[in-house]
Amino acid sequence: MSNEALPLLEIVDEDSLSKVLDSFYAMIPEMAYLMDDAGQVLAKARTSPKWPAEKQSYRRSVDVDGCQPFMICVLAHDESNGDLGLPADNISALLDILAQLISLKVSAALAKSQRRSPVHDAPFQLKDVLQASPMAIGWSNSTTREIEYINPAFERMFGYSLAEIPTLGVWFMKAFPDEHYRETVLMPWYEESHEAQKHGDFSKTRQLVVTCKDGSLRHVMLNVTFVGERRLVNFSDVTDYFNIHERLEINNKLLEMVAKGDKLKDIMLALVEHVESELPDAIASVLLMDEEQRLRSYVAPNLPNSYLKAIDGIPPGPSLGSCGTAAYRKERVVVEDIYQSTYWKGYTHLADLAAVKACWSDPILSSSGEVLGTFALYYPYPAAPSEQSLELLNFTSNLASVAIEHRRGLHALEKRAYYDHLTGLSNRGHFFECAGKALEGFTDEQTFYCMIMMDIDHFKQVNDRFGHKAGDKVLVKVAQVMLSIVDDVDLVGRIGGEEFAIMLPEVTKRQARVIAEQICQAVEQLQVEVNDDQIIKVTMSAGIAQCCEEGECAISIDRLFGRADEALYLAKSLGRNRVEVFSKEERENAAHHHG
Ligand code: GH3
Ligand code: MG
Ligand code: MG
Repeated sequence: MSNEALPLLEIVDEDSLSKVLDSFYAMIPEMAYLMDDAGQVLAKARTSPKWPAEKQSYRRSVDVDGCQPFMICVLAHDESNGDLGLPADNISALLDILAQLISLKVSAALAKSQRRSPVHDAPFQLKDVLQASPMAIGWSNSTTREIEYINPAFERMFGYSLAEIPTLGVWFMKAFPDEHYRETVLMPWYEESHEAQKHGDFSKTRQLVVTCKDGSLRHVMLNVTFVGERRLVNFSDVTDYFNIHERLEINNKLLEMVAKGDKLKDIMLALVEHVESELPDAIASVLLMDEEQRLRSYVAPNLPNSYLKAIDGIPPGPSLGSCGTAAYRKERVVVEDIYQSTYWKGYTHLADLAAVKACWSDPILSSSGEVLGTFALYYPYPAAPSEQSLELLNFTSNLASVAIEHRRGLHALEKRAYYDHLTGLSNRGHFFECAGKALEGFTDEQTFYCMIMMDIDHFKQVNDRFGHKAGDKVLVKVAQVMLSIVDDVDLVGRIGGEEFAIMLPEVTKRQARVIAEQICQAVEQLQVEVNDDQIIKVTMSAGIAQCCEEGECAISIDRLFGRADEALYLAKSLGRNRVEVFSKEERENAAHHHG
C-alpha cells in the first residue's frame, strides 16, 4: 500500500455504511468499528466516554462479493464485560451473526447501487469518513514525527490548525505545556504505545488533559493505531463526563467531612478550593450571617484582608454590593461589571481594594428559606457567568447550606446536652467537667481557685405558696443576678433544683466572699412579680472553698466541692442569708468540740 493512497472501502454510499453501523450498534451498544484486512480503521460506530479502557477486542472478517474483505471489531472495556453483560462465547456467536448480517446488508446495498448505476459512483474514501467524523483524528509519520493530517473535528476540539502543529514535538509542547506532566504522563504513554505496536498489540486507551489553543483544558480519551508508517490517534472529548465525575467526588468528600464533624471552616475552604480549581480565574468567598443579621467574612483565601475587613459586618440591603443584595433579596445577584452596577454604587472603592471587576453572589439558604450566608465568585475583569459556573454556584451554595445547617443542628444538640434549659446555665455534668478540667491545668502555686456553692433559702415554701411556675421564674431571675455579678471567665452552673455553683479562677477566698456577698445582697433586693400582683422575695446562703488551702497540695474537684458544700451547710445552720468560708482548723475545732 503506497503512502499517499488511502485505502478504499467501496461501499457505494455513506448512507448504507452508516445504516449498517447503526444496526450493529443497536445490537451491541459498545464501541465498534469496521476495519479493512490490513487493520486500517474504516469507520466507527458511535463511541461513548462511558467505556474508557479497552481490554479485549473481538473481530470477525466479513467477505462480501464485489467488495474488499473487511473486519468488524467490538471492543469490550473490562475482563468481566460488565457493560456488554455477555460472556465471551456469546459475543463470538453474536459476532458471527453480525458478520452475516453486515455482509447481507452490504451486498444488498451494492446490488441496489449497481442496479441504479452500472458505472460506479465516485468511491467512498476513508478520507471522506475522516473529514466528516465527529471524532478528532490525526496521524503522524512514525519515523519523522511529522504530523501529516488532522481532521476538522480535531481543529474544532483543540483550536489548532495543521500549520501550527507541524510535528509531534510542537504539538506536545503546546498541548501539554507542563513539563512534569509531559515527563510523567505523556511520554510513558507514548513509549508504551510504540512498545505495544512492536508486539502487535493494541495500545491501551488513555485519558489525558490537553491544553487547547484558547487556553482551556479538555479531558480526552486517546487511542493509538499504527497503520504502516502512520501513527493514527483518535481523541474523544470526555471533559463533561470528567467534570460530573469530579463534582460527584467533591460532593462525596465534603459530605463525608460534614458527617465526620470536621470544622465548618475546613469544609468551606475545601469548597472554595474546588470551585477555584474548576474556574481558573475565579476568586471565591463565603460570608456567614451572624446572630445580629450581619454578613461576616468567613472564608476567602484569595481576597486581600483589607477588602475582607472592609466588608465584614455588612447588613443585607437592597443595594449593598452583590452579597448584601443577594442576602436581602434571597436570590442570586449577578453583577457582570461592578463599575456599571447600581448595586455597587458608592462601594467601588472596595472593589478597588481587591482589584475585582465582576461579582456573582448566591445566597446560602437553609431548608426553611432563612439566609445563612452568601457564596460569591469574583473576577479580575468584567465577566458574565457561563452555564457551567452557574451550575457550580448552585452546587456550592447547596453544599454550603447542608454544612452550615448541620453545624447549627450540632450546636442545638450541644446546647441541650450541656446547658440547663430553664436558666441557660451549665448543667451539673457540664459544670463538673469544665471545673475539673480547669483544676487539672492548675499548677502554679501562686494562683488560686475558689468554688462557691449557693442554695436558695426555704425555696420549698416559695413553691408551696406561689406554685411551681412562680418558683421557676424566681430561679431564672436568681440565675440572671449571678451572671450579672460574676466575670465572663467564671463558670456558673445550676447543679441541683435550687442549688448553684460558681468556679472562680485566680480568686482567693477573701475575694470570693466579696462576690458571694454581692450576690446574696442582690438576691435579697430582688422582687419577682408573679401571678400579676404578687411579689416574691428570697434569700440565698453560700459556702466557699479555696484550692488550695495554705500549705496544701492540689485537691480533686470532688473534694473542693465537698468542702464548699460543708461551708454552705454551716451557713444554713447559722441562720441562712449568709456566706461561710471553709476552713480546716474550724472543722477540726468543731470535730474536737463534738468529740
Ligand atoms: P433550705 O433553706 O434548707 O435550702 O430550704 P429549701 O426549702 O430550699 O430546701 P429543700 O432542698 O428541702 O427544697 C428545695 C425545693 O426546691 C424542693 C423543690 O420543690 C424545689 N425545686 C427544686 N427544683 C425546682 C425547679 O426546677 N422548679 C421549682 N419551681 N422548684 C424546684
Ligand atoms: Mg434551698
Ligand atoms: Mg437545696
